[in-house]
Amino acid sequence: MSDNSIENLVIVGSGPAGWTAAIYGARANLSPLVFEGAGSRTMIPGGQLMFTTDVENYPGFPEGIGGIEMMMHFKNQAIRFDTRVFTEDITEVDFSVRPFRLRSSGGQEVRARTVVLATGANARWLGVPGEERLAQSGGGVSACAVCDGALPFFRSQVIAVVGGGDSAMEEALYMTKFASQVLVIHRRDELRASRIMQDRALASDKIRFLWNKVVVEVLGDEFITGIRVRDTVTGEDSALAVGGMFVAIGHDPNTAFLRGHVDLKDNGYVRLPIPWRTETNVPGVFAAGDVMDDFYRQAVSAAGTGCMAALEAERFLAHGG
Ligand code: NAP
Repeated sequence: MSDNSIENLVIVGSGPAGWTAAIYGARANLSPLVFEGAGSRTMIPGGQLMFTTDVENYPGFPEGIGGIEMMMHFKNQAIRFDTRVFTEDITEVDFSVRPFRLRSSGGQEVRARTVVLATGANARWLGVPGEERLAQSGGGVSACAVCDGALPFFRSQVIAVVGGGDSAMEEALYMTKFASQVLVIHRRDELRASRIMQDRALASDKIRFLWNKVVVEVLGDEFITGIRVRDTVTGEDSALAVGGMFVAIGHDPNTAFLRGHVDLKDNGYVRLPIPWRTETNVPGVFAAGDVMDDFYRQAVSAAGTGCMAALEAERFLAHGG
């Protein structure tokens, strides 16, 4: 810990936003302390990129890079510049006192002058057999078409997209560039998506809608070969041969531990009161990456806001915060 056990900068989370904040914070001599997360079934240190096979849209990697490898690079770069890391979650915060107080899953009490919240968001999954295994092994199941959709093995395949919101329409439209056909599987007979996105998707001759259907199983050993769907009206099951599945049923920000301590939007994401600033409603507490971004959700935009958060923290401290 820094002098008098008061940290200059504590970063909560270890995706692109958290590590970028650490790199900038460390290079500004703030000696940041990162709580990278303890890990669970659906969330591991490194964030959503740890579930991404190939990252092909992060500038600087013309041949692409594996998601896990990329996060190791981020982490190693932060550690090279005097970043300390605990593999624990932050479970409680008190931002009503200064310095701020944070408590970790390992029982540590930390005091901090500034905090960067970078705990990200989790894609929602269906929770059906085969899904998690094939998503984690890069077996053609993904929650992000923009991240994975252009991979060669999805080309000229029949691709399933699950969901009826704007994300599902966007992913379905995106996949029409590569797939021979896109099947949108929706649990009702009415879309939730905005009119304009609905109209675009309905107008595409490559997209077919399967109404009142839920996926009950993902089939395939090494790679997805099909899905079993159930009709929500008749209860009948049928198997469909597909060469990929994208789950687009929403995201949940990891903000449960922040409820009542910083302003959150109705959808649970951290609210940032000033455009182009990462400071929350609590001076000295900043938020970066998917925990505050329900719009772009990209690794590169998360890294960018991690940089912004560290620079703002540095300025906050320089002005006696
Ligand atoms: P969303 O609007 O919450 O839609 C989620 C969809 O998934 C709904 O159709 C829902 O079905 C379905 N769903 C949820 N849980 C399910 C489950 N367990 N099994 C099967 N289906 C399930 O989420 P989103 O599409 O990610 O959009 C989130 C926000 O971002 C929205 O405000 C959206 O407008 C915005 N967004 C905008 C754009 C754009 O404008 N281009 C693009 C992406 C996102 P029900 O309809 O039956 O509830």
